[in-house]
Amino acid sequence: MAPALSRGLPNASLASLPSSSSSFSLRNGNKVLSLRSSFVPQNGLRRGFSCGGLNWKLEKRNNRVSIRCEAAVAEKEADETSGEQFEYQAEVSRLLDLIVHSLYSHKEVFLRELVSNASDALDKLRFLSVTEPALLGDAGDLEIRIKPDPDNGTITITDTGIGMTKEELIDCLGTIAQSGTSKFLKALKENKDLGADNGLIGQFGVGFYSAFLVAEKVVVSTKSPRSDKQYVWESVADSSSYMIREETDPEKLLRRGTQITLYLREDDKYEFAEPTRIQNLVKNYSQFVSFPIYTWQEKSRTIEVEEEEPPKEGEEAKPDEEKKKKTTTKTEKYWDWELANETKPIWMRSTKEVEKEDYQEFYKKTFNEFLDPLAYTHFTTEGEVEFRSVLYIPGMGPLNNEDVINPKTKNIRLYVKRVFISDDFDGELFPRYLSFVKGVVDSDDLPLNVSREILQESRVVRIMRKRLVRKTFDMIQELSESENKEDYKKFWENFGRFLKLGCIEDSGNHKRITPLLRFHTSKSEEELTSLDNYVENMGENQNAIYYLATDSLQSAKSAPFLEKLVQKDIEVLYLIEPIDEVAIQNLQTYKEKKFVDISKEDLELGDEDEVKERETKQEYNLLCDWIKQQLGDKVAKVQVSKRLSSSPCVLVSGKFGWSANMERLMKAQALGDTSSLEFMRGRRILEINPGHPIVKDLNAACKNAPDSADAKRAVDLLYDTALISSGFTPDSPAELGNKIYEMMAMALGGRWGRLEEEEEEATESSEDGSTESSAVEPMVAEAEVVEPSEVRAESDPWNE
Ligand code: ADP
Repeated sequence: MAPALSRGLPNASLASLPSSSSSFSLRNGNKVLSLRSSFVPQNGLRRGFSCGGLNWKLEKRNNRVSIRCEAAVAEKEADETSGEQFEYQAEVSRLLDLIVHSLYSHKEVFLRELVSNASDALDKLRFLSVTEPALLGDAGDLEIRIKPDPDNGTITITDTGIGMTKEELIDCLGTIAQSGTSKFLKALKENKDLGADNGLIGQFGVGFYSAFLVAEKVVVSTKSPRSDKQYVWESVADSSSYMIREETDPEKLLRRGTQITLYLREDDKYEFAEPTRIQNLVKNYSQFVSFPIYTWQEKSRTIEVEEEEPPKEGEEAKPDEEKKKKTTTKTEKYWDWELANETKPIWMRSTKEVEKEDYQEFYKKTFNEFLDPLAYTHFTTEGEVEFRSVLYIPGMGPLNNEDVINPKTKNIRLYVKRVFISDDFDGELFPRYLSFVKGVVDSDDLPLNVSREILQESRVVRIMRKRLVRKTFDMIQELSESENKEDYKKFWENFGRFLKLGCIEDSGNHKRITPLLRFHTSKSEEELTSLDNYVENMGENQNAIYYLATDSLQSAKSAPFLEKLVQKDIEVLYLIEPIDEVAIQNLQTYKEKKFVDISKEDLELGDEDEVKERETKQEYNLLCDWIKQQLGDKVAKVQVSKRLSSSPCVLVSGKFGWSANMERLMKAQALGDTSSLEFMRGRRILEINPGHPIVKDLNAACKNAPDSADAKRAVDLLYDTALISSGFTPDSPAELGNKIYEMMAMALGGRWGRLEEEEEEATESSEDGSTESSAVEPMVAEAEVVEPSEVRAESDPWNE
């Protein structure tokens, strides 16, 4: 810095003048130099005036106000190098470090990112100028120009967009607040081990900073219509800071917008300063930018030149007027701007004109996506409200679950008469559960200065929303019917839970949502099946759609509730995701068939034999009463089951109570209301299977030995076990554990000929109170007792 400054101040004189609290001294020019290097302004105040061909500058730092005078010619050079220095935000430094040292092989993405920023800046200007036409002024067309310079190894991208004020420069190019880049950092955090070279740079884009993939120095010169000054931002790769200075060179002044110059790295010069390469990249990356992009190209043209015919031999040279002239054509090389992109937006074109690949490219460019979309639809609506739209189903789901609940996804870009208005919606154009859909919507029926309030209240928007939703369902429906089954499978994996949310939130669209739902069932455990399939396969007598909600496929498959249904060949839907049960309860019916939870009371399977039922009921009446007596308030009643075949009993929920699954979810979500949990518990019903030996034994006990302690213990254990196998959680798992040990001990009771002494020892120790007293003998493992001394004798290193 110092040498440059000394160049800038050949005859400088510096005066320090009194300010309210400063001390002053007048110094001579040479002494100034050492001082100058220390006052590279950080946040210094700069004012100046010109007088007599000299520029006088007023500077204030650390309570010293200095006036310096510089020769006007020197000013230019000085300004190029001096400026305020700013430190990058820590995240930016980290990001830059990653970018600069990245081995990422598709460095050309820098162009896509910079062109996309330029296009955003133009969009923003166009939008703001609707209400503030003065912003446009007479600063020319909205366009982007890209000029590669192979001789100097630079590439310059200029837009006539909104530009940046000095504050915006600091905010935008020194910190990270924006979507793409912060998404990248987030993904990087999640993929820590993979580092920066695994394609994430290309997938997410690192915005402006991607310039440093190819440049060793970047200079951004920008003029906002809101500021009368133009500022230059400058930084080199591998630096933790950047400089900002004011542009004063009249030749470099922009009327409006931003000019970014990349000084390419030695290795990248050849490739990215080459005009045809740049032209191809722009064609490839930016064909959907809706502003013209011109690139600087070498062209050739044929021109006609008149040549004098040389005098023939022997002829004398004629005077000028008489000379014969001949016209020939010549090819001349020249440089000029060439339009590189098609600017008619894709949604304005006819569907016949646009290829599938174009739609996919448009999607990837517009939404910064890596994968092709799963499906798309392009349509125009006419009539009451007219608009055009292209909608997409993304190729993958949101990276984190948050997006299911957060409808602010910036997935829909709204245009009014081709002017980009906003992508910041909160359910106005799409319901929350369809917030995963991406696309563009362009309407002529909305005012250009449409605000959020207008959007929320507009009838036009309500109609648009309805149509968009319907078109989205058509698109999903089509995908579900597509020959390629994998596509819908992928869709369901990624977005199934969104549709289930739709069952809860949009009862008006149940008819459209339900055919799209997919479930595992007792007959289709591996492959997912649709409700249509289910209904088609129903038996003649079946008039309900049966379901069971559990926490996993595994526990659904082995649940006791299923036994009779499986025996009778009735299919049962397995609801294994937390949202499933609530979703199904909201639907209530499908094709006039009621959804029935097989874990609740009053299960009708449609083939009841009433006489037989009454008989069994009577036969087991006494047993049921006896068990109910034992269990007291734990259950509302005990009854003979119609749903069991191999388990002795099952605990079912009351008709209007929570299923075991719901209880589990409620507890997990800590929705707080334990009083209703208590109430639900009291509504459970214990169903017994009269065909099971345990129940038969108990039936005998209740008649022959109703007071037997063993029988009572068995009832207790039966209840606890039913609780677990039915999906509930026992109140005291430890107590239940003890009961099981007790029963095991009884069952095993010396079956393998336990040693007498051990038995005695056990009794002794229980007598002297050194172990917990127990009515039953503890199980003793048949382990060989090894004396500590023996162990040591075998493997004591000290003895070896
Ligand atoms: P993103 O594009 O994701 O917002 P970038 O790092 O690419 O992040 O850019 C940061 C910000 O810098 C932009 O949001 C924008 O405000 C500003 N910016 C970048 N390029 C330009 C430009 N050509 N004209 C005006 N502002 C720009």
